[in-house]
Amino acid sequence: MPRGDGRLSHDLLPGEKGPQDACGVFGVWAPGEEVAKLTYFGLYALQHRGQESAGIAVSNGSQILVFKDMGLVSQVFDETSLGSLTGHIAVGHARYSTTGASVWENAQPTFRATAHGSIALGHNGNLVNTAELAGMVADMPQTPGRTTRVAATNDTDLITALLAGQTGPDGTPLSVEQAAPQVLPKIKGAFSLVYMDEHTLYAARDPQGIRPLVLGRLERGWVVASESAALDICGASFVREIEPGELIAIDEQGLRSSRFAEARPKGCVFEYVYLARPDTDIAGRNVYLSRVEMGRRLAKEAPVEADLVIPTPESGTPAAVGYAEASGIPYGSGLVKNSYVGRTFIQPSQTIRQLGIRLKLNPLKEVIRGKRLVVVDDSIVRGNTQRALVRMLREAGAAEVHVRISSPPVKWPCFFGIDFATRAELIANGMTVEEIGTSLGADSLAYISLDAMVEATTIAKPNLCRACFDGEYPMDLPDPELLGKQLLEVELAGGPDAADALRRP
Ligand code: SF4
Repeated sequence: MPRGDGRLSHDLLPGEKGPQDACGVFGVWAPGEEVAKLTYFGLYALQHRGQESAGIAVSNGSQILVFKDMGLVSQVFDETSLGSLTGHIAVGHARYSTTGASVWENAQPTFRATAHGSIALGHNGNLVNTAELAGMVADMPQTPGRTTRVAATNDTDLITALLAGQTGPDGTPLSVEQAAPQVLPKIKGAFSLVYMDEHTLYAARDPQGIRPLVLGRLERGWVVASESAALDICGASFVREIEPGELIAIDEQGLRSSRFAEARPKGCVFEYVYLARPDTDIAGRNVYLSRVEMGRRLAKEAPVEADLVIPTPESGTPAAVGYAEASGIPYGSGLVKNSYVGRTFIQPSQTIRQLGIRLKLNPLKEVIRGKRLVVVDDSIVRGNTQRALVRMLREAGAAEVHVRISSPPVKWPCFFGIDFATRAELIANGMTVEEIGTSLGADSLAYISLDAMVEATTIAKPNLCRACFDGEYPMDLPDPELLGKQLLEVELAGGPDAADALRRP
């Protein structure tokens, strides 16, 4: 396993990032296929969900090898590293950190030895009972061959440790498959898991099904992935979603499905707004079509006289298409995006930093000059990007800039795998829409209503999590001090006293 050199990743422009995703997972069981390469391309298709680190674990039936490092999928792997990962089962992960720092130790798949072999696991989501699970791991009895302590400080490693270390009533170590019905019902929060032991690929989804997870079929095997678009890219056909509360196991005996909890669907509505790829379907609804419909409804709710509708590329593009269609105002490209700007390990120099948003977006002056613009974006978190954008469009000669947003104001933090910001950093927390518009320097600002956004997804409102918009969380949450990103780092740094304090009920 290569070891990262300790560098932390940096946003290219700190403070100007949008909502960040919390990981993409991919798994394949396919004897006779190059499973590491299939996983590489699956992760490549899921890169938008996590750009801090990437990893692939492969089993050849007798041992599991894990290769992971900091960086993008294309930076971490090459022909040589993929060529060294031979076998018939693979689990892959692309990470954005929500619990646990962005360091090599927290890259996934996580790996643990068990009494029967080993386990490698990737997780999309974020848990809300991390402190409780840390207590359970600490209290587990020692069994021969099992790793009890590693340097990882993410919630995922706790799941892996629990699955690796369960024992039966007589103290006999359980297999990874036998451990699942004991462990999965105890985990609270969002978890789409893809994991394996030497012989079997597993996939499990939390009872609310907050993050997506789908099953696909290859000619000679099976694939599981965070998004249906990743199936298309590796030549797998869509079979179905992994159901909320379902565990599946795939090996030479075929596919087994079992339930560890009753389904109580609360899919994340933000997947439809921004997170998922437009070519992905979630719960039977295409994401692109949802976004176009959000734009249409936004145009009806918040019309304005203007000459041109432009998107903030690319996440605002489908909603801008819908807004233009419903308003009758022509659609155009007013901004050119540098597609290759993503995460970088290079800290921008002061000169470059001052260029700000121009590193990502450059205005097409010839299109913009003298026009009254409607600028459509998917969401506003802190407002820094939109403020810079409005200024840039005015400098490029826009006569008026009207900002339209295809989701309601983000007022509440997400504890289920999206790193928006703290509540204090959210621009909509404590400001009216008019005040936000003034702060952005826009001629007008309007957001879509919650109901219109939800209706555009075609999913029944009670089956969606909308907590970042309306504060109605889909499950009870522990005290705020038990929810921090650095929860397990605090515990490690503070020793037993801090650990006990965190676990107190
Ligand atoms: S709080 Fe918002 S981003 Fe988080 S799961 Fe719910 S809808 Fe999605």
